[in-house]
Amino acid sequence: MTDDTDPESNLQQWKETMQAEHEEAIHSPDLDADHRIEGVTQVSYRVYFAYDSDSGSLKRERREQVDELHDPELLSCACGVRGMTPEEATAHIEAARE
Ligand SMILES: [Zn+2]
Repeated sequence: MTDDTDPESNLQQWKETMQAEHEEAIHSPDLDADHRIEGVTQVSYRVYFAYDSDSGSLKRERREQVDELHDPELLSCACGVRGMTPEEATAHIEAARE
């Protein structure tokens, strides 16, 4: 008995299914759910330390912000849709308002 399961094509099929479900979730939102777009982003700081000879350890002395707050590249919605580009998130909210 031969195993005709091709892992490559299964993976491809899975990706296509996931992509189709993602598109569906973006463009056909559940109108009863709450839709609120959010994302996580980071700001970097340079942190300066001072040596404290009493305790023999470094103590954080001050910090300096080294970059500006940027919008995250991927956004999610309170309804559970994740991994949307800003364009997709906009389309999602517009579809939810219809
Ligand atoms: Zn939503």
